[in-house]
Amino acid sequence: LIKISDLKRDFVLGSETIYVLKGIDLEINKGEYVALMGPSGSGKSTLMNLLGCLDTPTSGTYILNGKDVSKMHDDELAEIRNKEIGFVFQTFNLMPRTTALDNVALPMVYAGHSKSERHERASEVLTQVGLADRMDHKPNELSGGQRQRVAVARALVNKPSIILADEPTGNLDSKTSEEIMGLFNEIHKNGNTVILVTHEEDIAAYAHRIIRLRDGIVEKDERVK
Ligand code: ATP
Ligand code: MG
Repeated sequence: LIKISDLKRDFVLGSETIYVLKGIDLEINKGEYVALMGPSGSGKSTLMNLLGCLDTPTSGTYILNGKDVSKMHDDELAEIRNKEIGFVFQTFNLMPRTTALDNVALPMVYAGHSKSERHERASEVLTQVGLADRMDHKPNELSGGQRQRVAVARALVNKPSIILADEPTGNLDSKTSEEIMGLFNEIHKNGNTVILVTHEEDIAAYAHRIIRLRDGIVEKDERVK
């Protein structure tokens, strides 16, 4: 599913170059459940953004579903992103004035579905994440855990092959975090590939494989289940 070879990403700021990812080699198979860990600044989010086709590497290759996406242009990347990737962020990133239903349906607009198809599918995934009775609520009418459920539903709506989550429980208390992790477990059981970033060992313990980054390289990559 994912094959990354000697992937590097650096950022040029004025006269300075910051070398963030210094040569990552990684293979992730369909259906894996991976936690990505490492100290702050080690490059986890930078790697997730590359995996999610939100960014392209400085050098190296990234093969996703047999396609080399590392040198693709923005419009091609946007299409891959919309089809193959579901992204969940720490801060939920929902549209504030829009109902849960329309937030979830939004990614389907780009895929060209009719409004009734969008609403039908959005209500199906909202039901799946336990929010059948909250579809018409706006984000500020929902709890943090419910907002994150909406974000998870939005990530699932286009039936992506990979779910990426960058510290999805970072803004949630421990009980709500457990509920959200229960949701990721279900998503994984349904056959999805799940890759999530976390700082917490108890959250990482849900995954079957833990990859640890340090200073832009893979320090440790172990199967834990
Ligand atoms: P955290 O656990 O704090 O979220 P992280 O492992 O996700 O950390 P990254 O966000 O990947 O870390 O950042 C790694 C390094 O890359 C940091 O030193 C950061 O300042 C730098 N960096 C990330 N994005 C950019 C950018 N767009 N321009 C310049 N530097 C960047
Ligand atoms: Mg980060």
